[in-house]
Amino acid sequence: MYKKTPPQQKLFGIETRVCPPLRSRLESSWAHLFRCEVLPILFRNEDRYAMLYGTTGRPNFSVARLLGLCLLQEWNDLSDQEALDEFSFDIRWRYALDVGDEEDYLSRRSLVEFRRRLAAKDPEMKLIRHIFDNIRDSALKKLGLSSANQRVDSTLVISNIRIRGRLSLFSNTLSLFLRSLNEDQFSRVPKAIQDWHATEPEGWFGLGPAEQKIKLQELAQYLYELIVLFEKDLAGSEPYQLLNRLFSEQCEVTDSSVEQSSRVQVKKKTEGTTLQSPYDPDASCGHKGPGYSLHVAETCKNDKKTEIITDYEVHGAARSDIGKALPAIERLDAAGLKPEVLFADGGYPSVPSALKVMEQGIEFIAPVNRSRLSDDIFGRDRFTFDSNGFAIKCPMGHAPIGHRELSAHNTTGRSLHAIFDGRLCRSCTMLDPCPVRVPNHRDKGCQARDTVGDFRLEITPDLRLRDKMYSLQQTIEWKDRYRIRAGIEATHSELKRCHGIGRLRVRRLVRVCFAVACKLTACNIKRWAKAYRSLKRLLHGFVWSIYLCLRLFGPVTAAFLRATTSYVCLWP
Ligand code: SF4
Repeated sequence: MYKKTPPQQKLFGIETRVCPPLRSRLESSWAHLFRCEVLPILFRNEDRYAMLYGTTGRPNFSVARLLGLCLLQEWNDLSDQEALDEFSFDIRWRYALDVGDEEDYLSRRSLVEFRRRLAAKDPEMKLIRHIFDNIRDSALKKLGLSSANQRVDSTLVISNIRIRGRLSLFSNTLSLFLRSLNEDQFSRVPKAIQDWHATEPEGWFGLGPAEQKIKLQELAQYLYELIVLFEKDLAGSEPYQLLNRLFSEQCEVTDSSVEQSSRVQVKKKTEGTTLQSPYDPDASCGHKGPGYSLHVAETCKNDKKTEIITDYEVHGAARSDIGKALPAIERLDAAGLKPEVLFADGGYPSVPSALKVMEQGIEFIAPVNRSRLSDDIFGRDRFTFDSNGFAIKCPMGHAPIGHRELSAHNTTGRSLHAIFDGRLCRSCTMLDPCPVRVPNHRDKGCQARDTVGDFRLEITPDLRLRDKMYSLQQTIEWKDRYRIRAGIEATHSELKRCHGIGRLRVRRLVRVCFAVACKLTACNIKRWAKAYRSLKRLLHGFVWSIYLCLRLFGPVTAAFLRATTSYVCLWP
């Protein structure tokens, strides 16, 4: 049964039972900020979690403290039991979570069950994102940080899976399926597969490449046989669907006319999002490796040297970073934190997505590449255009003789082209670095100056923006400004080294999202506490200096104040 945590603080909390120096240390530690700033936010969010509980039965353990425990667990990258031990025995944890004597024990089952219910009832992990948002907003407000400049980057997050090649993947998926069968179903499995399951599901280890290939082919055959055998009975079960998915991604049935054993072939190369482990079907393989991709946005260029993580997104590693700045901007805009300048690396901007970012009034500072064009060729930014996007003149001051919709260079559709007089272009001294295209109808090997016909230049808004961005990024000023982006690599490093975000203890997207959200929130709290401590130290130093001044120059100050007062009194 859901019960809200009573808001009243304990009269004799843990801090009243320690000596004054220890209390002072406790109050200057992270635990004090957690208790004073974070815990009230968790209490305010408690009612949103009421849907995890029924209306009858024993009242729940405080949701706010459970959430606080999850945050501290991910902060320190602890296992469940380690976190529960800290909760029971570490005075800072108990002070931070304001735990009374009657609440200092929590069973592992309660913690696991809380997370299981949360994953089942809130698969999009909106509740924990709400807490991340609340803590981020409070930290930004209390520290007086600006979100005008932000940077974004992605990193690889690996769930609790082991990747050891295709043979291991086939073997694990088959074993998982066979273990899910009941006695009756297992008796229908062909004898050869039963024997393999009993003796050698892991027996491939140490095989040479040629033997591995034969073994892989054998397992592919087993997959096919099991898929056909249980097609009618087990089509809805997850182990069967994994078997089916693995087969469709990794194997193919070549020729139905030949004997069954030689029909199944393992594909030489796989494409798209493929299964990496039967224990975590949501993980996929991208260019950084297998697992998940985590996008993080944070503030930058704040004078106080403290930056706060403002946004995150988690998805399978197979999805590219291109265009991922747009959803982040949408979320930041909804939270009132839309950046004025956004820094990203070369993985983020496709030119259409960069255009959309800039249409929102954001300066998008990210390198673009012109793939096949050499650096000697200048960009379309050297041409003059009118407000409708039509070319007015080329760098040599010649106006185009017309505009036409012609077939585009990189896409199948047609796009707007400016047509330039061929005679002028052929005799132009800037023909070599000019991006105009020579006429198509020419003999192989024919030089541009020997062609016949007019020259053309594709002038879509995307290409004009790409050229403009490319020209800008060659300048020293741009490179100086862009340098701030690299700071986010330190955040990834901090998240991996201090909070263990690179290698998680959980599997499946929903649990990965929860763990990631807790770690990012914990990282923000840690940064907030650090900034809070330095501010406190600064204030302390300031008060001490005034006190010392008064002690040293007290009599002089008093005499000065007396003289000033009497002078003011004599003034008409
Ligand atoms: S090559 Fe043609 S379009 Fe390019 S600068 Fe010369 S005249 Fe202008």
